[in-house]
Amino acid sequence: MESKIPYKIYLTENEIPTQWYNVRADMKNKPAPLISPADGHALSIEEMNPIFCEELNKQELDDTTAWFDIPEPVQQFYRMYRPSPLVRAYFLEKALDTPAKIYYKFEGNNTSGSHKLNSSIAQAYYAKAQGLKGVTTETGAGQWGTALSMACAYFGLDCRVFMVKVSYEQKPFRREVMRTYGAHVIPSPSMTTEIGKKILADHPNTTGSLGCAISEAVEAAVTNPDYRYVLGSVLNQVLLHQSIIGLEAQKAMQKYDIRPDIIIGCAGGGSNLGGFAAPFIGEILRGEANYRIIGVEPASCPSFTRGKFAYDFCDTGMICPLAKMYTLGSQFIPSANHAGGLRYHGMSPILAQLYHDGYFEACAVEQSSVFEAATQFARTEGILPAPESSHAIRVAIDEALKCKETGEAKTIAFNLTGTGYFDLVAYQQFNDKTMVDVIPSDEAIADSLQHLPKIGNN
Ligand SMILES: *Cc1c(COP(=O)(O)O)cnc(C)c1O
Repeated sequence: MESKIPYKIYLTENEIPTQWYNVRADMKNKPAPLISPADGHALSIEEMNPIFCEELNKQELDDTTAWFDIPEPVQQFYRMYRPSPLVRAYFLEKALDTPAKIYYKFEGNNTSGSHKLNSSIAQAYYAKAQGLKGVTTETGAGQWGTALSMACAYFGLDCRVFMVKVSYEQKPFRREVMRTYGAHVIPSPSMTTEIGKKILADHPNTTGSLGCAISEAVEAAVTNPDYRYVLGSVLNQVLLHQSIIGLEAQKAMQKYDIRPDIIIGCAGGGSNLGGFAAPFIGEILRGEANYRIIGVEPASCPSFTRGKFAYDFCDTGMICPLAKMYTLGSQFIPSANHAGGLRYHGMSPILAQLYHDGYFEACAVEQSSVFEAATQFARTEGILPAPESSHAIRVAIDEALKCKETGEAKTIAFNLTGTGYFDLVAYQQFNDKTMVDVIPSDEAIADSLQHLPKIGNN
């Protein structure tokens, strides 16, 4: 603790990056494009414009521009809750009795409680700049819906969030945060869309699914010229916006001459890992440095470690464009016992390509060990971590314990994506010792992968 490195390394407001970094510019093998589920052709911007905002489509399709200026109004909003601190986990290191040096970038310091605000504010800005009235989206647990509601309130946009009915009823607190920020939160399936009406006619008692909520949100956007659909992860544009995390971390490290050996992020759709690791992967791609980068996923939803690199539907409803990613199949649904988040079946095409090309590793961890790590972290470092973030904590602790055995003083950096105040039912299961680890069988994954589309995979 006598070290000259402070507990928290803060950049000044004026040091917040003013450009996002697009790692695709430095990739030799570019990520595969989004393709049409009808005939497999790569989607053109004209075809994407009725669904998504125009400027965001330009970012989505741009594989060559390395730096994008962050619009001034977005920079101003970032100042409300950024820069986020890079924290030296002195207390955790001491508890582990490790020679390793552990750092974490803390992205939970805003009301939405996660990094998702970094992209929602950018997406809301471009929607407003295009003259739209509002945006539509879906939300499951509610983090993305909350982040988008905050962003829309700031720019005076209407925000229509289709929330999976079971979450709408069982997670009233997230719902109320969204409504407080002015969002219209609609339990899905609903009578406000044709697809919703049809699903309700066929299954009157359904509690909804993310796939169904996506279908409703897309329909609500494409049937109204003043609205577009927005997404909180997976897409290239989202990773671009999230590069703010990595760029800040890199700058903070440079101030104190910190060189990370290991960089860790949890992986759901890949946006925080892709954003946190982007500038470091850029250095690797340009041959300037080498880092060990680890993506951590739940053993109950292991896209990287047990999935297939193939074109697949982004949604359970099979209406969205196809993306090439590591996937468990769009029909894969993690066990109902899985409380730890990161439930998405696929993975960002950028990360998928980088993983395929060997630029980073991935590992899968079981949820009870994730909550053990979360508890240890909460008790030593004070922050109650989100279950998703705690996947990264688990592996950071494991790597630090390896250093204890070998005596190596490695520098480990991980992204602490958010706080866990809305996840206390999961913590309750862990505290009550009713949490179980369910790992899908090879047969279950093979079954789900049988439904991969033929298009794009011949
Ligand atoms: C959404 C979310 C994640 C996972 O999403 P990625 O796109 O993989 O980053 C991780 N942590 C928190 C707190 C989240 O809300």
